[in-house]
Amino acid sequence: MKFGGTSVGKPERMHQVAELITKDAESKIVVLSALSGTTNSLVAIGDAMASGDRETAKQQIDKLEAHYQAFIPELVKTDAARAKAKAIIAEHFEFLTIILKISFSEALSKDILAQGELLSTKLFSVYLGEKGIDHALLPALEFMSIDIHDEPQVSAIRAKLMPILEQNKDKKLFITQGYICRNVRGEVDNLKRGGSDYTASLVAAAVNASVCEIWTDIDGMHNNDPRVVKKTVAIEQLSFEEAAELAYFGAKILHPTCIWPAQQQKVPVKLLNTMQPEAAGTVITQEAGSVGVKAVAAKDGIIAINIKSSRMLLAYGFLRKIFEVFEKYRTPIDMITTSEVAVSVTIDSGTHLKAIVKELEPFGTIEVEQDHTIISVVGNEIAQTQNVLSRLFEALTPVPVRMVSYGGSKHNVSILLPSSFKTQTLQLLNKGLFGLE
Ligand code: ADP
Ligand code: ASP
Ligand code: MG
Repeated sequence: MKFGGTSVGKPERMHQVAELITKDAESKIVVLSALSGTTNSLVAIGDAMASGDRETAKQQIDKLEAHYQAFIPELVKTDAARAKAKAIIAEHFEFLTIILKISFSEALSKDILAQGELLSTKLFSVYLGEKGIDHALLPALEFMSIDIHDEPQVSAIRAKLMPILEQNKDKKLFITQGYICRNVRGEVDNLKRGGSDYTASLVAAAVNASVCEIWTDIDGMHNNDPRVVKKTVAIEQLSFEEAAELAYFGAKILHPTCIWPAQQQKVPVKLLNTMQPEAAGTVITQEAGSVGVKAVAAKDGIIAINIKSSRMLLAYGFLRKIFEVFEKYRTPIDMITTSEVAVSVTIDSGTHLKAIVKELEPFGTIEVEQDHTIISVVGNEIAQTQNVLSRLFEALTPVPVRMVSYGGSKHNVSILLPSSFKTQTLQLLNKGLFGLE
């Protein structure tokens, strides 16, 4: 069971989480995020330190500490528990204050970012202790790891986690940190923003759990982004493929790559609402459940690269040479379209853009367009059913579509457009595909 930032963001929410995890006597591993807002504050502290602005960093640290100090009296009631909670806060904020004095580095910024999940799990453990709820706190840094390419591997996690569980055979309830891990250099690292979902799925796969429950602040995956359009509805059932596409193409409720570990081990994933635990939520399994379009999602920050070359005509091996450039810079391509004389690809990271463009130049004329958005229409057998394609393009009439990708999978049609058209497009699709205003 994984609980996100808002699910642990207030003392009363932590109390509710304690109820939810003790409803039945089944063994469970509970993965917690940092309290909502904490990771953003830690990012700001790191940024201030990186730019040498210790004054701002110190102010941010003090503000965050005050937030935690105010959290304690509502979380626990006994003097003993309050003293324990105070000691935990003192330890972690002392650490942040010491870091202020050390010269800044990338590794140090990861140490800063790790404080949020360490604090939330330790404070929650104090609350469980006060309530007399038997449990063990498992340090994620002892079993969550990423490889040389910063990718987690289920087998490596399993190899470390199983002996720890074995040592705690008498326990049925385990609490651990989401998001944080160790890299190949043994340093503290993380699974990128929103990574607690990934931790949950990886742990569920490692222990072959019967289910992986992601508890958040909404009753499951909705058909459209509720932050952008007014009326959205929860989806009952998704296949792993559909959920993975939605997560990867921007549905913030799930970390972009968190589905594969559960899918690999066939562990069903449920998306549930901490604020409304009786709601059915979304079930993600191998079966899609129904045929037809289910949801749209949007991914921002996309860069389109167009390579025009007359030499492409009749030339086999041309695409391989182009792809090799992206491979060299470990930059994944999201979308691709080709014509006889040109190929367009999209990437979501501009980190190596300059170098990539330089290496592509010998192949033809290169054009780069920034600030684009991919909107993905996801469902089961979508193109074959319900005239999805015709309704999609009808809805898109006012939108300057730059690329279309269809046919790669049976559950996705993706379109690329300038980001300034994103809100309008999501609204148009909500009406055109789902009949929702
Ligand atoms: P947590 O902190 O629990 O991980 P997140 O904020 O990461 O929660 O994810 C939940 C949020 O995702 C929701 O509050 C909602 O605004 C947003 N969201 C974006 N797209 C969708 C979608 N298609 N379905 C449900 N929620 C979505
Ligand atoms: N606390 C981390 C973040 O805000 C991880 C997570 O919440 O999933 O990104
Ligand atoms: Mg999240």
